[in-house]
Amino acid sequence: MDYIYSICFLIFALIIAAFILYEKNSFDRHLRQFIEFNNNITVLTDRTRIIAMNQTGLNLLGFKELDTLLQKTPYLGKLFKEVPTDDHRFVVSINWVTKLEKYQNIKVTMQLQNRTQTFSMQVNQIHPNRYLVTFYNISKVIAEKESITQDAEKDELTHIYNRKKFNTMLAFAIRDATVYGTPFSIILLDIDHFKTINDTYGHDVGDKVLIELSALLKNVLRGDDLLARWGGEEFVILSASTTLDHAQELAQRIRKEIAHFPFSHITRLTCSFGVSEFANGDTKESLLKKADKALYFAKTKGRNRVCTTNS
Ligand code: GH3
Ligand code: MG
Ligand code: MG
Repeated sequence: MDYIYSICFLIFALIIAAFILYEKNSFDRHLRQFIEFNNNITVLTDRTRIIAMNQTGLNLLGFKELDTLLQKTPYLGKLFKEVPTDDHRFVVSINWVTKLEKYQNIKVTMQLQNRTQTFSMQVNQIHPNRYLVTFYNISKVIAEKESITQDAEKDELTHIYNRKKFNTMLAFAIRDATVYGTPFSIILLDIDHFKTINDTYGHDVGDKVLIELSALLKNVLRGDDLLARWGGEEFVILSASTTLDHAQELAQRIRKEIAHFPFSHITRLTCSFGVSEFANGDTKESLLKKADKALYFAKTKGRNRVCTTNS
């Protein structure tokens, strides 16, 4: 008799287990169907492992089916090319999804059809052990934001930095020079008799000369020198880690390059230069005033020359 009871109990236990398993599988099955309705990459995870990914996600990541993806990695975090913020430490930890809940909208990058795309991740816990992670592609928004920031820093005509950006960078340079004692110099340059160019060839040619000159200056300068259009036909260079003597040499080199450059619409162009080096106690204004004074000397001494505050 006991034997029959045991068999019955075992069958009953098996039925319960099968029911629980069925319920669990059916829950996952429903979730699998549910995530297919999402147009964004959506992943079902138990915290660490990928249980399902919608077909949109698989297609975008270049996998035919889930198994192919799982062969590459069962972990979601392995798909990220980069976590470009401080949130990196959360995302690499083993049960990062649970942590992510508290730190929603973390940015990650993934490789999609040979292009790196940036996503914002959102996590929703839908069961004690089931999480839906949705990836919103924010690459376009980021690109637009970057382009707006860059536009705000650039001069519309010449596409080199504008005065506003220069002033910001100058403030940083003054801070560094004050704290670390690193020297730096600025070079102001002004086109000689530019009004005559406009009067002779027209304003459009004048504009083209400004564009060509900007390109020439960019070519001559080192990567860490900052070139900006100060306004009109005046340009300014912030030469990092450069003393007055070296800045003067650089200005001479630029002056010669300009004087020998075959501009497209005019026969010859020259510029005058004023150079000053940062000295302790200098402000943006005092530094620029020194360079402006030197430039004035260069003009009064006959143009096409370099003057420093000492000369
Ligand atoms: P100097 O050698 O003393 O510097 O003489 P200059 O003729 O270069 O100086 P001036 O200040 O008399 O004239 C500057 C001219 O630059 C006048 C202005 O119309 C012209 N200018 C300023 N901005 C632009 C611009 O964006 N495009 C063009 N084509 N001309 C400009
Ligand atoms: Mg001028
Ligand atoms: Mg001028």
